[in-house]
This record gives sequence, C-alpha cells and structure tokens, in this order.
Amino acid sequence: MISSALFSWSSHGVFTFLTVTSIANFDYQKLVKITDYSYVENRKYKEGKYILHDVIEAGNFKIDAEDDVLNDTGIDVINSFVLPTQSREIPVWAIFLVYSSFPDNGMDYVEESFFINALIGSTQANRHGYLKVSFFEYMEGDKSFLHFVRMSREAFKKGDEYWGYRFLAYALHYLEDLMQPYHVRPGTVPELIQFIFDQRIRVMLRNAHSAYDDYMTFLLYKSKNRYDFMQAIKDAQPIVLPVSDEQLIYEAIVYSYSTFFDIHEEVKKAFGKILYERRIKMEDFEQAEREGKLERLYELTKKLASTLASLVKGIVLSNVPM
Ligand SMILES: [Zn+2]
Repeated sequence: MISSALFSWSSHGVFTFLTVTSIANFDYQKLVKITDYSYVENRKYKEGKYILHDVIEAGNFKIDAEDDVLNDTGIDVINSFVLPTQSREIPVWAIFLVYSSFPDNGMDYVEESFFINALIGSTQANRHGYLKVSFFEYMEGDKSFLHFVRMSREAFKKGDEYWGYRFLAYALHYLEDLMQPYHVRPGTVPELIQFIFDQRIRVMLRNAHSAYDDYMTFLLYKSKNRYDFMQAIKDAQPIVLPVSDEQLIYEAIVYSYSTFFDIHEEVKKAFGKILYERRIKMEDFEQAEREGKLERLYELTKKLASTLASLVKGIVLSNVPM
C-alpha cells in the first residue's frame, strides 16, 4: 500500500478511513446501494478523468487487506461487505476510503501555471490549495470543498446516499489538502522573493512541500510513534463549528496557515541540504527520527492532524442525515 499511497498529504484514503471509523455513534458499517450518477455540475474537469462509475464494483480499485492501518482498526475489510457485483452494496467506510483520495487522480488538471508547476510540479494543485500571496490568490481549494459539500447535501436530500457519501468524501479531500500548511503557504516571504530568481530555492520549497506530504504516510506506517499518532486521530472529538461552510473552510485555512512557519522551520532543520538536492525518502525520515530530529515536528503534526480529524468528524456528523 505504501507505494500507491504516496501522493499529496499522502494517504487521504487511510486518514479519512481512520477518522470516520472512530466517530462515536456513526454507522460506518452501513451498506449503501451503488447508484448511477444523475447530477449537473457547474465545474470543469479534465476530460476522461472525472470518473462516474463505482471503481470497486468495476474492479479498478482493490481494497488492500494487508494494509496495516486498516487491519489495526479491527474491521474485516474484505468480508465485511457483500460483494458489490451481486448486491451492488458497499459499506460507508469503503466509500470514504476509496473516494477521499479520488480528487488526486487527475480530474483537476485544468489550468496551467508557471508558479504552481515550479512549486508543486503539477497543475491540479490549483484546486487543492489556497495560497494567499497576491499572485497565488486565484487558487480555489476552498471553492472545491464548498462545491462538493453542496453536491453531497443535494444527493442526501434526494435520498441518494451513495453519492451523498461519495461527494462528501471528495469534499474532505480538499479540506485535508488545505490543512496541509504547504498548500496554503509555499514559503516565507524572503524565500518567495528569491524563488522567482533562484532555481535552488524552487527545488528546496518543492521538496519541503512533498516531504511534509509524505510525512503523513511515514507517521501512519513507519514511525515509532505510529500507534500514538493513530490514537490521536481516533481520540479526536468532533468539532461542529456554529458557522457557515464558507466560514468553516476559511477558519481551517487560517489555522493551517498559522502553523506554517513552525512546521517549515522544523522540516528545514530536520533535512537541511537534502532539500536542495532531492525528494525526501522514507529512509530519510527513519534516520531523522532515530537521530531525534523529528520530535518537535511530530508534536506539531499530531496537533494539526488531531484538529483536522475533529473538523472532519464534525463535518460528517453535520452533513450525513441521521
Ligand atoms: Zn489533493
């Protein structure tokens, strides 16, 4: 699972799965009938990339029964649902597991941008971030979140639970992206000024960004703290903010932004000049952890992930009809 999980703020699927299966009194085992897509969306997607069939049913996505994180939850991931080919039913947890990582499959590759390419290396980042530095201001991760929350409500309203959960899983993806501080803030002000002229700074910021994406995978699968980390996600209490969805995503962005400077400092301290040379690998995380270089980064990230889990739980509870 590790190799296939290596995408941005990696392990969206597994993180979301852990989070929703630890919501008290939420029926994540419930079986939901797969329905055909019957919506009109006011949004452009990369042609051929906005998939509308169910990928589990079609056999395009295999749930990995060997996955450590899934196994740790005690849910029988293979036998706990009726095979969709016979009954067309899948459990709610499977929808979150599969579809919360879906927006990274290329459907959002719709715009070109020099800055984004240089920083993150892919243009779907437009819709997965929110960079409030003047020239980045057009990015629209917040709009993506709001769009899919709206679609989810619309689906639930007409009794279409399958798409209600599936759109909600997409929405959570964007929230998770926006809570990755590098998605809302690519560097410090001096770095952003140098960034324009200095290729080395561009490489460093890109590697710092992907290091922090991959750090989530490291924490879930390889770190000595992995059980403590998973427990923090499970223990997170739902936060239901008494605000509009617009305000909620804005608060999430501000929170994420406020963590950027400490986290970026720690990433640079832990990996130093490797960041100017290449992408950080799992072995680099292991070595840095052994040398005690990740301790503060871990504490900061645990707090951030726990806040994110609380928000996710709150959003699920306030959007799923019970
Ligand atoms: Zn993303």
